[in-house]
Amino acid sequence: MQELKQIVDETIKALEEMKRSGVTHVTASKEALEEIGKPLPKPASAGWSALEAETKACKKCGELARSRHSVVFGVGDPRTELMFIGEAPGADEDEQGEPFVGRAGQLLTKIIEAMGLKREEVYIANVLKCRPPQNRPPLPDETANCLPYLQKQIEMIRPKVIVALGATALRTLLDIQIGITKMRGNWYTYRDIPIMPTFHPAYLLRNPPAKKEVWEDMKAVVAKLGRELPLR
Ligand code: SF4
Repeated sequence: MQELKQIVDETIKALEEMKRSGVTHVTASKEALEEIGKPLPKPASAGWSALEAETKACKKCGELARSRHSVVFGVGDPRTELMFIGEAPGADEDEQGEPFVGRAGQLLTKIIEAMGLKREEVYIANVLKCRPPQNRPPLPDETANCLPYLQKQIEMIRPKVIVALGATALRTLLDIQIGITKMRGNWYTYRDIPIMPTFHPAYLLRNPPAKKEVWEDMKAVVAKLGRELPLR
């Protein structure tokens, strides 16, 4: 921010000098004007690193803490407008310490890119930060233990839109027991943040025709963000 302030101060100084010397107009390229019009990035929260460190040291779920290789906190830009939330790390994610890096993750990356974004421009996290053995579904007490970390992540990121990937993410955030098939494609809210539920990429690997529905959901997300889809 200090660097930005210095650039603004020097720009103002240069414009004042030009005005004093009789210049009444300046020209700017279309690209420069578009750049000026973009919103400033939100500053990364000072508490973010502390939250990551706290999560990575967590041993609240004894079984998971014993069996895990890593605590998978999340990946991406915490200043983003768009957050994806899945269920829990799988074997690849546990090994690499990053969410959505296996086959399902590669599919998610393709979906993000088709939306005109880069993986590093969004934030990706899971409800559970540790891998359940044999990829079993999270137990209710594990979800309850881990949810405060996700809630704090959402609070600090303050995204404009959340995409809930699959039933676990949706049920956990909205505290409901309705299936993803009924809920997907419709907007809900979590603490005033719009949520779009859609199918988990792992489901799409097993059921490729459902990609069409996910793409409809992602088009709605792009529109909600006030962005346009890239030309194909
Ligand atoms: S799943 Fe969450 S609450 Fe449980 S041990 Fe891992 S970080 Fe802690």
